[in-house]
Amino acid sequence: MHPAASGIATEPRKRVLPYLGRPFGSLFMKFWSQYFIPTLKESPADAEIASHRLLVRAGLVRKLGGGLYTYLPLGLRVMQKISAICREEMERSGAIELAMPHVHPVENWVKGPRWAAAREIMFRADGAGDGERPSKEPEFVLGPTHEEVITPLVKGEISSYRDLPKNFFQIGTKFRNEIRPRFGLMRAKEFLMMDAYSFDADDAGAIRSYQAMKLAYENFFRRVGATAIAVEADTGVMGGSFSHEFMIPAEVGDDDLFYNEESGYAANREKATSALVPPGLEDAAPEGEAEEFATPGVVTIAALEAAPYGVAAERQFKTLVFVGDGRPFVVVLRGCDELEEAKLGSLGFLKVRPATPEEIEPVMGAKPGSLGAVKGTIRNAAALAGVFADHAIRLVGNGTTGANRDGHHLRRVNVSRDLALTRFGDFRRVRPGEPDPLSGRPLKVRRGIEVGHIFKLGTKYSDCYGAVYADDKRESHPMVMGCYGIGLSRTLQAVIEQSHDADGIRWPWNVAPFHVLVCLLDPQVPEAAEMARKTAAAAERAGADVLVDDRAERPGVKFKDADLIGIPLRITIGGRGLKEGVVELKWRGAAEASKIPVHECETRIEAEVRTRGGTLEAADRSD
Ligand code: ATP
Ligand code: MG
Repeated sequence: MHPAASGIATEPRKRVLPYLGRPFGSLFMKFWSQYFIPTLKESPADAEIASHRLLVRAGLVRKLGGGLYTYLPLGLRVMQKISAICREEMERSGAIELAMPHVHPVENWVKGPRWAAAREIMFRADGAGDGERPSKEPEFVLGPTHEEVITPLVKGEISSYRDLPKNFFQIGTKFRNEIRPRFGLMRAKEFLMMDAYSFDADDAGAIRSYQAMKLAYENFFRRVGATAIAVEADTGVMGGSFSHEFMIPAEVGDDDLFYNEESGYAANREKATSALVPPGLEDAAPEGEAEEFATPGVVTIAALEAAPYGVAAERQFKTLVFVGDGRPFVVVLRGCDELEEAKLGSLGFLKVRPATPEEIEPVMGAKPGSLGAVKGTIRNAAALAGVFADHAIRLVGNGTTGANRDGHHLRRVNVSRDLALTRFGDFRRVRPGEPDPLSGRPLKVRRGIEVGHIFKLGTKYSDCYGAVYADDKRESHPMVMGCYGIGLSRTLQAVIEQSHDADGIRWPWNVAPFHVLVCLLDPQVPEAAEMARKTAAAAERAGADVLVDDRAERPGVKFKDADLIGIPLRITIGGRGLKEGVVELKWRGAAEASKIPVHECETRIEAEVRTRGGTLEAADRSD
């Protein structure tokens, strides 16, 4: 029912916009009957996780296509609050806001260090009507992040140590052609990110910038009501010297984080290491000459474990062949270990892929299943870019491996005597229960959602684009960079994932689309409408964003919707309650509502809002 017909409109109007027919309250107060909150009873079929279902059911977003979403008014309000908190914390850390274009000339990227690796996920934005450059290189691309734009910008604008350090940030849309967009806003093709880029004169400065951002991130996640853990992360395509990811623990997360809360160790799966190999471990002494034996048809670790061979996986060497920037290379692991492909990033190739059987045989001399890295057995060892072994094979000491002859293996292969290794490295995936590298306590694992990332980049980009500055002796140095990103839209959904129950969302106060919901059960009763007006005004005076549910719906429908959209504080006003002289106050998630005498209502609401909002603001950040 339109409030004009409900009796509310007969109240004296305050700050009224007559053409909108606003019944009362400030411009910011919203009336459900006139606003747009299309809640749904049913979940969309493609929504596999609770937060995705709730996003749609609570009327926050609607899908346009895979990984593409419209923010409906409620969703937009949350997004704006999250952005505002993020902006405040960035400003507080000293970062400076600017805004760069989303459409980038491809030249900026071609010049940069990650074009080969990044282009697959980049949307091309070919110039309209440009028939000259059909399918080869696009003329423009859509930005997945902005290192390729900011670094040349800073090169052009900053040349003296006096203008450093600087940290620039922006809040804007990013584009990534994700192969499998899923889980709503979690992995979208278009999403909102805060990205920042720091420029320092030296490494010490870059570390200070990094630490300032880490603190700003911690404040941000605390303020939006999310529990996020900073974990050591792989630097991947970005290169760079070190990085942390901010993870929100959740079963539905895409990432594994390994941690031990007592030692404080925390790293994502791609980066996690363990103290499995004791530091002082001596090389195993040979157990006699290596010996070839026939293993017809045996091409797996498991087959060699079985009778009649009975070689435990822990006693086998697993030999894998990859192609890095066009050249094959070999990785050796224990038979019982899994490769963590991200760790191959430490080898410095821009692009790595598994070699095909057709590529493997001419180099190694055998098909996969009979491969090994024993000296003198590789057919064309000169073709290899290297043979890299995981440290853990030293625990095997003497083991069994392929002979590079189909259907044959070698036993009593000694690591230091027999393997043709270029070097050792950390390539295996750790397992829960292994000793953590800080304290030796057992590693635990849980799933998490990556919501933010900070990188100390070093000079990779400044070298590439010539972003140098002159010091006080007029000597030229590359700027030392850092880059930082928070997935703001992913954070929005991760907050829901962390904060919901069977009935709907439970918004943390600071990011709730509205703080207070005035639930008016009998809009046609003038006393009820008047009470709603007073209550809503009191809440607004205390600083709350107020939504008035003035719809002519049954109480059951209103309560269900209220729980679904998850506004923290609900005040229910109805004709029956007013006759008893009470209104009801209920925090979302509290089991019971409390009844408040009508005459105390305004002061009580003001007090609740001030304490709740106020306490949170004071307690929710640290400097
Ligand atoms: P992921 O590993 O999840 O693909 P990423 O490591 O590629 O993410 P970054 O380049 O570190 O992402 O981007 C910074 C932040 O942007 C991420 O921490 C994440 O919160 C967010 N983000 C990245 N990709 C997406 C996406 N497709 N949809 C929504 N948010 C994203
Ligand atoms: Mg990342």
